Amino acid sequence: IYILAIESSCDETSASVIYNGKVLNNIVATQSVHEKYGGVVPELASRAHQENIVPVVSEALSSAGISKNQLSAIAFTRGPGLMGALLVGVSFAKSLAQALDIPLIEVNHMQAHVLAHFIEDPKPSFPFLCLTVSGGHTQLVLVKDHLEMEVIGETRDDAVGEAFDKTAKLLGLPYPGGPLIDRYAKEGNPKAFQFPVTRMPGLDFSFSGIKTAVLYFLQDKMKENPNFIQENLPDLCASIQYTLIEMLRIKLEEASKKLKIKEIAIAGGVSANSGLRNTLTQLAKKKGWNLYIPKFEYCTDNAGMIAIAAHYKFLKEEFSSLDVTPLAKMKI
Ligand code: ATP
Ligand code: MG
Ligand code: FE
Repeated sequence: IYILAIESSCDETSASVIYNGKVLNNIVATQSVHEKYGGVVPELASRAHQENIVPVVSEALSSAGISKNQLSAIAFTRGPGLMGALLVGVSFAKSLAQALDIPLIEVNHMQAHVLAHFIEDPKPSFPFLCLTVSGGHTQLVLVKDHLEMEVIGETRDDAVGEAFDKTAKLLGLPYPGGPLIDRYAKEGNPKAFQFPVTRMPGLDFSFSGIKTAVLYFLQDKMKENPNFIQENLPDLCASIQYTLIEMLRIKLEEASKKLKIKEIAIAGGVSANSGLRNTLTQLAKKKGWNLYIPKFEYCTDNAGMIAIAAHYKFLKEEFSSLDVTPLAKMKI
């Protein structure tokens, strides 16, 4: 069984072919147009998806060595994401499924981030806890089965990836700043500057406060020394990153204790962060957790994760009708 999967929820156009549960390829076209605007511009994202989708799909099919007539289903991201961006993938998938007269499979993007753990070994066993940290979401997910998940905690405001990107912007770094903070943090002292660790009730998070804290802190320091940022960039990045990771670590530890679960996974773009990976790897040793960290290419947006989700849906014959429409705010 070959399934073609398409991802177009934000600023990556991606296609992947999966064969009997094995992801054969994962073609990703990252849109660079947004860099100069300091964030994703929805209209430009939509246009770039329109330009990229045919070449990306063709490459996925040719690298799998198959023609479209060999496909058994077409999968796509239904949501959550940018409406105009989702529409491109949804329309493309619908037309192709209709033309080939094969089933259509809708995938929830946040479920797919979690299911990225089933692309390769070692795979977590059920039930496990997944901390999904991305550009638009921060969720603690109780994963009971491949397609059965429950959000047990989430951010009340900004996502942690957003906090990385927005504080990076305050430091004058280009979009997306998360990976750059990660890079500079490696040479800095995480205890050089102190920023407040916001604690929400229960298992929820809040990441909007750090942006303001960093803004006021920088304004203050720049008054004394206009070169403050340039002279302290690694220490600033390390301190901001440390604070963000602390907020994640505290809630993950609480959730594990509360639910008595030691199977722990992380997912989403921010799970590429080396500070988070190191912190949780050490914590896992101390706590006796089995920690699962996805390969870099399956952390940020990719169609491989849509393909693996589609594989499980295909087995259960969970198909969508041809009049399906995107959902910008789709729940898990
Ligand atoms: P969502 O999945 O919530 O819809 P999204 O798809 O835009 O949002 P992803 O592509 O999963 O999010 O992740 C992108 C985010 O990950 C960006 O905020 C980016 O800065 C962040 N990110 C990527 N690599 C790193 C890193 N090494 N350190 C910190 N943040 C990172
Ligand atoms: Mg992206
Ligand atoms: Fe994502």
